[in-house]
Amino acid sequence: MWVDVLVERICEERAAPYVVNDAWTPSGPAHVGSLRGVILHDAVARGLRERGQPVDFLYGFDDFDPLDGLPPSLPEEFYRPHMGRPLCDVPWHGADAPSFADHFAREFESIFRAVGCTPRTYRTSHLYRTGAFDPALRLALDRAAEIVAIEREITGSRRAERHPVQVLCERCGRIGTTVVLGWDGQAVEYECRPDKVAWAQGCGHRGRRSPFGGGAKLTYRTEWAAKWAQFGVKVEGAGKDHMTRGGSHDTASVVAQRIFGVEVPFPIPYEFFLVGGRKMASSRGGVSARELLEVLRPELVRFLVVRAYYRTAIDFDPGGETVPRLYDEYDRAAAAYFGELPARTPGEQQDVRDLARTFHYAWLRPDPPRPFVRPRFAKVAFWVQMPHVRVEEQVEREKQAPLTDADREELRARVEDARRWLQKWAPPHYRVAVTESLPPEAASLTGAQRELLARLADRLETAELEPETVQATLHGLKSELGLSAQDAFGAVYVAFLGRDSGPQAGALLAALGREFVVRRLREAAGRQPVRYAP
Ligand SMILES: [Zn+2]
Repeated sequence: MWVDVLVERICEERAAPYVVNDAWTPSGPAHVGSLRGVILHDAVARGLRERGQPVDFLYGFDDFDPLDGLPPSLPEEFYRPHMGRPLCDVPWHGADAPSFADHFAREFESIFRAVGCTPRTYRTSHLYRTGAFDPALRLALDRAAEIVAIEREITGSRRAERHPVQVLCERCGRIGTTVVLGWDGQAVEYECRPDKVAWAQGCGHRGRRSPFGGGAKLTYRTEWAAKWAQFGVKVEGAGKDHMTRGGSHDTASVVAQRIFGVEVPFPIPYEFFLVGGRKMASSRGGVSARELLEVLRPELVRFLVVRAYYRTAIDFDPGGETVPRLYDEYDRAAAAYFGELPARTPGEQQDVRDLARTFHYAWLRPDPPRPFVRPRFAKVAFWVQMPHVRVEEQVEREKQAPLTDADREELRARVEDARRWLQKWAPPHYRVAVTESLPPEAASLTGAQRELLARLADRLETAELEPETVQATLHGLKSELGLSAQDAFGAVYVAFLGRDSGPQAGALLAALGREFVVRRLREAAGRQPVRYAP
């Protein structure tokens, strides 16, 4: 399983203690790609901890970055004067947060905690304002020429600035609009330019100030390297867009080694996470992590990330068969974990071991509770649509034992997922509306189909009404009458649903109850409805 392989390599190639770091700029709702990042780091941290290694898993909110664009749906008027200011200094237009950065950082933190990620969080603005980054700033300013040369060497760009810092303008509070003109070991001389960037207008102020204690920030690539040095980071992955040759990770790596004199953290370049599908509201740059959690419960979101090899793109479209299949795979992984999956050959044993490890890393806590009932998602989706069906009773009947608290909890989550899925994503054949009276489509049933329904009614009057028994009876009648599967099962669907396809017929009839089923079958067969005698 890939997490175990990575953990093995990290232990070989880097020394303890293991500081694992991930970071994100809270400039809008977090996209699913950022969620892949934090889950991946959490899984690796979990793996390292289990080997008895000291681990510190950090998550940084880069809230000293400037506001350089607005997510759609925010009031532009309100934010226009704040463009270019550090995200932590931009007020939030609502009442729920003191700042723009705070609002989005808190939102994402609540999401990644919900999927079981447990990093210690920090804010980059604190590193600057408490003076923790002062030595890094001094080093970067003193050796500015070397850093600029590195940027040019690695990226091949001529456009790099002369200093790897951005000064906070004392007059307008912007940080994205300034350029450094000089550094004398005490203060930086700077200018706040109206035309430096397209997304914000500097005030034109020219001044001199101390870069320390929050007066300036390092530019992105140098800041990345400074964090590695500051925290002693040993492991840090990034999306593959950062990991291209000559990209930001390459530059940060050389700055880390040559300027800060530290080793580059073990890199984990991971692939994109895309969420598609017609009905998915997509905002700037992709679907948000929150939107994904509106489709799937946290365990399934985490499973979706962990089961994919990190160098494979995840392209998740919640329509079609995707969600029922994902649930089935999740259940198989759970069965592997709890030792319920048979494996005979060494190859099968390896597969089961990998699946069990996948479930282990996908679980929200490192210690999943004891076995619970896991009724198939497709079945639950069907039950919740049936009038008079109590899902708990159905499951209890299948389990043949009273449900435990863990069972009920699992069931509750499945029922919720099924309801949401049916409302928005389920393909038509999963929707089951049993008609109140005989559907008009029943008029088109053939003589042979009517015969099948009549015989089925006779047998179900006395037979045990369990899904498997009903299914077997139907198969028997199909052969007896020489009907195709489509004609035989189609007849049942037409009689109850008014269409020629549906869920497993045995499960459908068993859930509906004997009296109703027998009466409807006889009506559809064109026989006199016979009063059912108990
Ligand atoms: Zn200014």
